[in-house]
Amino acid sequence: MRKPILLTPGPTMIPPSVLQAMAMPILHHRTKDFEVLFADVREKAKWLFETKSEVISLACTGTGAMEAAVVNLCSQSDAVITINLGKFGERFGKIARGYGLQVDEILVERGKTVDLEVLEQRLKARKTHAVFFQASETSTGTAAPVQQIVALAKKYGALSVCDAITACGVFSLPMDAWGIDVLMTASQKALMLPPGLALIALSDRAWEAQAKARLPKYYFDLAREKKAHLKNQTAWTPAISIIVGAQVSLGMMMAEGREVMFARHERLAHATRTAVRAMGLELFSSAPSTAVTTVCVPSQIADGTQIVKRLRDRFAVIIAGGQDELEGKIFRLSHFGYCNEADIIIAINKLEIVLKELGFSPHFGAGSRALLELFSPPV
Ligand SMILES: *Cc1c(COP(=O)(O)O)cnc(C)c1O
Repeated sequence: MRKPILLTPGPTMIPPSVLQAMAMPILHHRTKDFEVLFADVREKAKWLFETKSEVISLACTGTGAMEAAVVNLCSQSDAVITINLGKFGERFGKIARGYGLQVDEILVERGKTVDLEVLEQRLKARKTHAVFFQASETSTGTAAPVQQIVALAKKYGALSVCDAITACGVFSLPMDAWGIDVLMTASQKALMLPPGLALIALSDRAWEAQAKARLPKYYFDLAREKKAHLKNQTAWTPAISIIVGAQVSLGMMMAEGREVMFARHERLAHATRTAVRAMGLELFSSAPSTAVTTVCVPSQIADGTQIVKRLRDRFAVIIAGGQDELEGKIFRLSHFGYCNEADIIIAINKLEIVLKELGFSPHFGAGSRALLELFSPPV
């Protein structure tokens, strides 16, 4: 009997109560019922982002929100900085270049995080309109120093645009308190929903820039969306079912409480890191993200892709491998959203079995034992 445990950094597992809500007959969006629902989701989204600004719902995946940020803030030939810690940072660069911006990319060695001195030098060197970066770079499992990046951008008059797609709801990112100009996330990550809904919020400063930005846009015109949102509507057909689910999942997050939720993610991340180290494995990132633990495939294992494949095929434990040049070299275990200690215990247990079969077991059972100790209530 297969009972899948999905521990990938998107999509993530969906709670039964959310699935049940989304299974109800479809609601029409130009109705009072939708407006009542959407008013509630708008408020809950502001709670999640810790902002007074409007949080705009878009019917797209996270990449759509990334593109929306670029086209709503910038004009042709604006100079921008993109911080490339991995595939998603690289994507910001590609989008910005695609729209003809002058991109100064800070390319960081995989597994390392950004050097703030380098960022400051680049900001000093040329008048920069905006700094685009990831709070948590999902492809390498690396966290960025968000608060410091935001402060540096502000010091040099640049907007800070934070892709928090595997950060929002995972660890603390108070948008207003930290002065983040643009914050975005997507439904299939910590929001515990299917893919297809993206959320993005702009600070007052970012809305001023939005009014002046001249890049072409239509579907992603955030000013038009904001106007509709203020009437509890959306400009186009919204991702209705996902918004229905969002009311439930955001409600679950609020019931758990921000601090408890962040502490749970931190505990699961710490336990995962401790367990894989106890097994004799090495972490790939020197600044590990709370969202996802990236582990180096040990040199004793010739074909690293077998780890992900065997976990999936034999045990229905679904984790992610490395992408592009990191394929077969790393694997990624995520631990956010609808995820608890039991999921991590099973994943680590099965990982130990698979690694032993593949010829790597210097400390067989040590990962599971580490979890037993970490998760035991104090006596
Ligand atoms: C998942 C993710 C995205 C969005 O990818 P989509 O496939 O478009 O949803 C963007 N940035 C980060 C950091 C992500 O983890």
